This record gives sequence, C-alpha cells and structure tokens, in this order.
Amino acid sequence: MTESFSQSSEAAESRLAVAQHSLDRLKTVPALAARYDGHDKILSLDHIATVPPLVKDDLNVALAHLEPKAEHGATWLFQSGGSTGAPKVGYAPTGFYMAGVHAQWAPLDRDDVFVNGWGAGRMWGAHFLAASLADLCGCQVIAVGSVTADEYVDWLAFFAARKVTAIGGTPSVLRLWFANARAAGITLPALRKVLWLGEAWQPQLEADMAAVAPEARRWGMFGSTETWVVGTNTPDCPDDTFHVLPEQLVHVGGDELLDFTTLNPEMLNPVLRYQTGDAGEIVACACGRPGGAMRVLGRRDSVVQVRGLGLHVDDIVAQVERGPGVSRAQVVITENQGRALSVEVLVLASADSAADSSVDTEQLRKDLLASTFTLSTAFQHDPGNFRVTVTEALVSNDRTGKTSNFVVREQT
Ligand SMILES: [Zn+2]
Repeated sequence: MTESFSQSSEAAESRLAVAQHSLDRLKTVPALAARYDGHDKILSLDHIATVPPLVKDDLNVALAHLEPKAEHGATWLFQSGGSTGAPKVGYAPTGFYMAGVHAQWAPLDRDDVFVNGWGAGRMWGAHFLAASLADLCGCQVIAVGSVTADEYVDWLAFFAARKVTAIGGTPSVLRLWFANARAAGITLPALRKVLWLGEAWQPQLEADMAAVAPEARRWGMFGSTETWVVGTNTPDCPDDTFHVLPEQLVHVGGDELLDFTTLNPEMLNPVLRYQTGDAGEIVACACGRPGGAMRVLGRRDSVVQVRGLGLHVDDIVAQVERGPGVSRAQVVITENQGRALSVEVLVLASADSAADSSVDTEQLRKDLLASTFTLSTAFQHDPGNFRVTVTEALVSNDRTGKTSNFVVREQT
C-alpha cells in the first residue's frame, strides 16, 4: 500500500514544474537515464509516486554529473552520504532554503539569545542552516559550534551570565550540554527553547533539562543533507512526528520506507523520490494542527550482519535502555575482513544512578543472550566475545556530534 500527501494545494502547478525539472535533469545522467525510460511527463503530484525512487548513491552519481550552481550568491558544498572514505558532495545555495522553513515555523524571535551548538565546518550543513534561521528570526546569536570536554563548564557559566534563552544542536550534543550543566550545578533559568536536528530526539534528555532549565521545551526539525529541512515540530507534537513543509512532498512506499521530493524551485539537488533509509507513516498529529503529519519510525537499515545472521541493533539498544540505571546504549561491532570478532554493548549510566555499579551488566548480558537469537547463535562457541560494558562516553562522530546506535570497527 502506498500513500502520499502534500500539505498545501496552492501553487501546485509551479511545484509540479520543479518535479518535472528534477526528472528532466535526472534523465540527462548517463548512469541513470535508462531507469527513467517511459517516465517523461509528471502529470500530478500523486503521479510522482510512479517514478522510480533514488537511493543514496544514485543522488551522488547524479550530482557528480550535474554539478548544479546557485542562481544567486555562493554554491555551498556539503558532505552528503557515505560515512567513510572521500566525502560525497551535495549542494545548497546561501540561505539553505530556510525562508520556506521560517514561513511555517519560527521558534525564535528578536528577544531570543540563541546558542548555535551545531558543529561548524567539515562540510556539515547544520550550523549554517541554524544560522540562517536565526538571521530570519532576528535574534541574538552566540555561534559556539562544538567544544571539547573540558570547555563545557566555562561556556555554561557564560550562557548563564548572558541569560541565554535558546540553544540548538544534535540531541547527542545537547545531552552533553545539559549533563555537564547538571553535574556542575549550573542552571539556565532563562532558557525556554531547545532546537534539535540531526538525530531522533532522546527522551533521556528531559530529566537533565528539567533540572537545568525547567522552562525549556524542545523544537525539532527533520531532514537530511540531500533534502534539507523536510518538516518541523513544536513542544505540542510527539517528538517523532513532524509537519511537512509545503515545498516538500513525502511518500510512504513499500516496507514503510519514506521517500522525499523537493518542490522548492531553488533546490539544487534533484531530489525526486529520494529514500533516506527512514521508515515512517502519515498520521494526524496529537497537537491538533490540521493536515497530515509524518511520523518517523526509525531507520530500516539498522539490521547488521553478524556472522551471517541479522542483528536488529535498534531492538538491542531499546531493550538495554529500558534497564535500570541505563541512560543510553550503543552496539559496537569489531570486524576483521568482514567477520564479526566481537559485539560489545556500551552502556552509559544515567545521571540519577549513584554509581556505575548500579547498572547490572551481567544481568543485561544474560537477558540479551536469552532474548536475541542472533547473539546466542553467533556467539555459541565464544560467548566471551559478546560483552556489555559501562562506559564514560559512547562513540560519536567528531564531525557532526551524532551518536548512532551502532558502530562497526575494523580490527587491524
Ligand atoms: Zn503537531
């Protein structure tokens, strides 16, 4: 079953023309042209669902051929897809399409003092996108980017002195800010707004937020480097549900996979039924705002092969995070030439627990082996290579500050 929707019907014709332009451009890409045989004219927004989807590498192949240029101002290059090796490149014009976001969603106003805590540089777009939004909102901006572990307390004292009202970052980075503030006994009573983008919301943040900034509420954006911002939510919406922008079209295909079509005429990337790997569904949002909203169910590529068996990483992480004293968990797979040597579940103890010893790693390990066929079977002969370990910090991406549910390491 497929389902598609677009939030607004106005200017449907010009949005259709954008989709048609993307299709025309994709048909000029030698490596992709054949798949679009028989797809020449897009007759309606619903008709887009009949065009073949793009997966991550397809878009990079198209962009390498098309090399789009912004009509006005600079053409920015950002890292797009591929977490290893040479960066694959996506393009965006100055402004990063944030005018369309701001027209629908304005969490900041002129009185806000906003800390931009998304990392800057290394070809990641989030810091610049947030700066563009702040520009449109006319607030005061403190461009901090990423900081090292020993810098948090000094910066937090500065934020308190400046009566910061808003902060933005990936949920993984926000957790560091709030956990460090709580540990240092620093409060931010003026803080009202926590903007987030880049990962799923982490509900464990809320305990630290309540202690540090009791008035703070979350404001989320959903998107990718290829699509830019697709949807937004407010404190009244569930954290996994986003209202889709009028210039974006979301379609739910087989296996609940979401694909995205950008209908903004300034869009440089030919995003036509582009699949990010996220699954989702169209729902009525609990906030009561009319029109369909997109509920994101998580990634469909969170199944990793361990010794020939599929390991459902998100299930493992969810099970461990339900355990007493656990704040967050991450699966680290160590491989040698494609074979999994070991699987380790790293556990971050919650701030509420008195000591690391309050997490019963041996019990967690037993429970996981008992409930997970893949683990008990794959490590039948060397059970010592499946471990649960309490750690001070999970493994995160230095560039983006994101902490994914699993990490694969090559043992040399
Ligand atoms: Zn809502």
